Amino acid sequence: MAVASEPPGAYRAAVVHRFREPLTIDQVPAPELAPGQVRVKVEASGLCHTDIHAAHGDWPVKPNPPFTPGHEGVGIVTELGPGAIEVAVGDRVALPWLAYACGVCDYCVSGRETLCLQQRNMGYSIDGGFGEYASAFARYVVRVPEGIDPLDAAPLTCAGVTMYKAVKVGGTRSTDLVAVFGVGGLGHLAIQYAAIAGGHVVAVDLFDEKLELARELGAEFTVNANKEDPAEAIQRLGGANQALAIAASPKAFAQAYGSLRRGGTLVFVGLPADNRVELPIFETVLGAINMVGSIVGTRTDLREVFQLHGAGKTRLIREVRPLDSVNESMADVEAGKVAARVVFEL
Ligand SMILES: [Zn+2]
Ligand SMILES: [Zn+2]
Repeated sequence: MAVASEPPGAYRAAVVHRFREPLTIDQVPAPELAPGQVRVKVEASGLCHTDIHAAHGDWPVKPNPPFTPGHEGVGIVTELGPGAIEVAVGDRVALPWLAYACGVCDYCVSGRETLCLQQRNMGYSIDGGFGEYASAFARYVVRVPEGIDPLDAAPLTCAGVTMYKAVKVGGTRSTDLVAVFGVGGLGHLAIQYAAIAGGHVVAVDLFDEKLELARELGAEFTVNANKEDPAEAIQRLGGANQALAIAASPKAFAQAYGSLRRGGTLVFVGLPADNRVELPIFETVLGAINMVGSIVGTRTDLREVFQLHGAGKTRLIREVRPLDSVNESMADVEAGKVAARVVFEL
């Protein structure tokens, strides 16, 4: 049995002091654990585009600086706060976006905890995984099964579960054609989950090397949207049963819509800064098109994601970097210079 280690007095963490200014690596005092919380010694933490939006204060509801981003943290529980009974010291856990939910509202009790209005979010309203330690609510961490590399578990904690859920929400069945718009940190996993669900995948991106990666990961067809109209190309294949709009551009959403066959489903996943897309009413009604938003995934979804990875069914494309590279890494992600996911090793 593992023994709780001495609480750290202070630890290194990447901190946002002001929106749109570089993060600094500070020594931050370890906060006291609130009831139900645990302390986790972080081993790995993935960099998601949402962390960049958080650091920029891009969204209508903003975090309160100073704060530490990161909602793909994975680490070992070192200390239990009062009443934290759901995990034990020594457990490896993931610290996802949904850091806390009320547990009793309609959404929480009907398996839709990610819609809870009382929710708090890791790396946003609660300090996140970009530090040597993080505090988290024991009920909302998810155990990482033995044998899974923490450097893989980190990107699965947001990118993985987000795409796993989007494929679930889209309702992919075997023989369906699934169009994946955007082959990056999210898209490379979307291709794999759509294929696991039995779908045939057509991947769309602007760069040939990303399309090559898509083929390696199981896409049967690829379309370079710089060279041809993806909607037309996918209609030539019969049209998509589901189109996953991942790329953060309204144009990609419109193209994804245009790629659907009648009765198809457009799944909204990406969050473009430009928050509008124009879609036709007539074709939507006559074609009985479905449109649905998908937001991260529940603890159950994340358990399933880990189960699939443990069974060798998914592969992560990731680049491991030190936390000190946080500003440079954010710039590289924004410039599209990262193949899929940056994971900080703590
Ligand atoms: Zn994320
Ligand atoms: Zn709730």
